[in-house]
Amino acid sequence: MEENKEKISLSALSKRIDVSIPTVNNMVKRLEQEGWVHYEKYKPILLTPKGREIAGRIVRKHRLAEMFLVQKMNLGWELVHDIAEDLEHINSEIFFDRIDEMLDYPKIDPHGTPIPDKEGKITPHNYKNLSEMKEGDQAILRALNHENTDFLIYLNKKEIGLNTKLKVEAKEPFDESMEVSYKNFKNVVLTKEVCEKLLVEKVNE
Ligand SMILES: [Zn+2]
Repeated sequence: MEENKEKISLSALSKRIDVSIPTVNNMVKRLEQEGWVHYEKYKPILLTPKGREIAGRIVRKHRLAEMFLVQKMNLGWELVHDIAEDLEHINSEIFFDRIDEMLDYPKIDPHGTPIPDKEGKITPHNYKNLSEMKEGDQAILRALNHENTDFLIYLNKKEIGLNTKLKVEAKEPFDESMEVSYKNFKNVVLTKEVCEKLLVEKVNE
């Protein structure tokens, strides 16, 4: 069995299953308690195939729960992460299968992040940061690479959500902020920091 163990760093694992470093940290602690991984500080994690599958399944439960809270309970996307942290501990496959069915088998969570399948596998997306777009480019917001509550409240205030189409009107060389137009808003300034957290798909028209 030893040779089946995979060495992986926390940051590589966080990229692989598309969760933040603090979240992956908590998850690894939980997996370690159950014996699915071996972890020593500053060393790569030894992840068993079973451990990898279970990590993916926890992420799946979390993201399905978030989607349920948004779509069926009408909670804002800024409110659901903490509740989902609690719900992901529910140990019932039927419960989450039913949620999956009620939501019509969603592929992404309310923040646009992919939901792993039942084997814990994730289909990676290929979006670019808004900050990589050029003047004149148009792009649709597909996902966020940051789920921080204050950031989500900020986007609510700006009326920017998933599928909002953004046009880059100008890019400021000094601080790399951008002026964007969307919906009825013209030349709204977004800082570089915000632009780096918005994952977009470039469109031609
Ligand atoms: Zn979350």
